[in-house]
Amino acid sequence: MHDLILKSVIEITRQRDTDSLELSLVTTLAQFIPARAIALYRYSGEDRADAVEEVVRLSITADGLTGKKYHWSGEKRTVAADRHLQQCLQSASIVVAEANGGSEHVLYPVVLEQKVAGAILLEGHEDEYTWRPIIEALLTIYSNYLAILHESERDKLTGLLNRRTYDSKLDKLLRAQRDRQQTNKYHAAGSDHRLVDPNCHAWLALIDIDHFKRINDTYGHLFGDEVLLMTSQKMRRFFRKSDLLFRFGGEEFLIILEPIPAEMARRTLERFSQAIAGHNFPQIGGITVSIGYSGALETESSHIILDRADKALYYAKDHGRNCVFNYEELMAEGKLSEQPKTQSVTLF
Ligand code: GH3
Ligand code: MG
Ligand code: MG
Repeated sequence: MHDLILKSVIEITRQRDTDSLELSLVTTLAQFIPARAIALYRYSGEDRADAVEEVVRLSITADGLTGKKYHWSGEKRTVAADRHLQQCLQSASIVVAEANGGSEHVLYPVVLEQKVAGAILLEGHEDEYTWRPIIEALLTIYSNYLAILHESERDKLTGLLNRRTYDSKLDKLLRAQRDRQQTNKYHAAGSDHRLVDPNCHAWLALIDIDHFKRINDTYGHLFGDEVLLMTSQKMRRFFRKSDLLFRFGGEEFLIILEPIPAEMARRTLERFSQAIAGHNFPQIGGITVSIGYSGALETESSHIILDRADKALYYAKDHGRNCVFNYEELMAEGKLSEQPKTQSVTLF
């Protein structure tokens, strides 16, 4: 048994991204914890009030030959948290949900950086009290390690996703974004409720603060940092929970807008540009941003999508700044050649 537990710890800490870590935890538990199914739930956004998502579910059946047979359901789906799941998430404590013929449904909270981030459900679990200390210890190792991975995926100043995450898992993020949109079906942003159109694709926008160097030069680096932080906070409030927000380089941000029609993508980005231009930053006053964006298909490589948005951003910088341009429209209008005449905007 000790061997198995040690192997579990090794397996958990071998993972390099949060998705694999989740799968690894559930698989590991399934190998030695007596249960009929194990599921992992987490809040789907950063806001605690958000819906809860079932991230993975593993059903376990006894198999005479090999001992155990597993059936995966790795399809993320938003679920209505039942009373017991709510209780576990809200109280951050273990909840024994149901006792049935000697087996129980037990929920363990998963804590990330002192906040409940989700829960593990053990369905048809046996011998609850014997296993509790081991499961709690494994979950603590998992949470600690998750915190480290989480940190490595984010920018330190703003807490937005970082460039490394974009490079290593854009395809995964785009797929997850679409899956989530399709399971949620209806989306709400203020009063804007709408049905998802399956023909839409995601959009990648590069946002670069205009003449940011002047802010640093005039007010100092600390004020510059404050502007970056406030801009990121504005982005979090302005865009949807389902849009992906990155700090991409010094004063550059990247956004993946979830699949929406072209006109809506344009309006959203223009409204954001106006919101920034209309904001009064303490001491500094107004700033503006230039935005270049392009369609983002799941089948394309991350650097190709980025390159198109970059060209549109460069065009915006070259045409007065404080404006928004779409790569596909610029190409259709013959305003961009495949080879830009001038050097591309430096992104890193
Ligand atoms: P443009 O309108 O063409 O984008 O001009 P710009 O001044 O914004 O662009 P440029 O690339 O010339 O300068 C970017 C500046 O951003 C230079 C660099 O010192 C500053 N910068 C990069 N990272 C940080 C950071 O983390 N904090 C602060 N305060 N400044 C940063
Ligand atoms: Mg720049
Ligand atoms: Mg700039």
